[in-house]
Amino acid sequence: MEEALAALPDPVLVLTESGRYAAIFGGQDRDHYHDGSCLVDFSLYDVLPPARADWFLAEIRATLAADCLRIVEYELAAADVAGVDPSEGPAAPIRFEGRVQPLRSLVNGERAVLWLASNITSRHEMEQRLRRLSETDELTGFPNRRRLMAALNEALVQYETHDSRIALLLLDIDHFKTINDRYGHPVGDAVICAISSACGARIKRRDLFARLGGEEFATVLYDITAVQALTVAERLRKTVAEVCFEAKPGETPGVTVSIGVSVAGPNRRRSHDLLSQADAALYIAKTGGRNRVVLAEDCH
Ligand code: GH3
Ligand code: MG
Ligand code: MG
Repeated sequence: MEEALAALPDPVLVLTESGRYAAIFGGQDRDHYHDGSCLVDFSLYDVLPPARADWFLAEIRATLAADCLRIVEYELAAADVAGVDPSEGPAAPIRFEGRVQPLRSLVNGERAVLWLASNITSRHEMEQRLRRLSETDELTGFPNRRRLMAALNEALVQYETHDSRIALLLLDIDHFKTINDRYGHPVGDAVICAISSACGARIKRRDLFARLGGEEFATVLYDITAVQALTVAERLRKTVAEVCFEAKPGETPGVTVSIGVSVAGPNRRRSHDLLSQADAALYIAKTGGRNRVVLAEDCH
């Protein structure tokens, strides 16, 4: 049985209610894990930074209170655990999945849990990559509609709880079909990229510029009044009008955008409200002659 426990592919720790390492089995593969056998009989507080020890202890106690299997995720570097030799094992911090199960009998007179710590670093990195991909527009590399909607919804929660001010800008390239028809789709794509880069560079770092799809873009601006949002929109409009794009040798057609602006307010608490009002303002900008900025009704 001892040999079987030692051969467990992932480390299994017995941790007591007071935060003591009572036993450690398995996890012998040094490509995946460091040797933690030196931790036995020490307390979490002897070997970990206090905040990390607090976290582990809280999870142990939550598992004992719930009296069922709990699954947690965390990152831990060998360098953060006193006594563990960082050179014998993975160099980078490890992403762990901890599967924590209460033990039926007492260990040294204390309640305890069995903590299975699996190295899920590569799975986690893949998840992060997929997440980034799912939120990125393939053509421009800017955030896509999904990312924008998530940011907008988050911002609106802040609006409700902290009364923070948020503005949404909707941008649509004017007469874009003409560009495609005259110069071809690849040139149209290059115009979309050029406009994205120009606009993305002209907003604050914490604001968000996204491509919604086609030749439509949106910007979420934080901590901003309607008047300031109009100023930003006007700056973006001018920036686009000044983009010098050579569609073919000697031909630099002018490209402009129309922009609809809305700000969060009592009648615009949901992303749907902000979007539809900015869209209505954009429509007015289009019918009013294009290459202009319009603030949605009631936002003044
Ligand atoms: P308006 O001023 O009214 O916006 O005129 P518009 O020509 O821009 O009209 P509309 O917005 O209806 O047309 C958008 C065109 O954008 C239609 C489509 O051919 C083109 N388009 C959509 N997605 C892409 C894309 O990814 N690449 C390129 N090159 N063109 C696209
Ligand atoms: Mg459009
Ligand atoms: Mg258009």
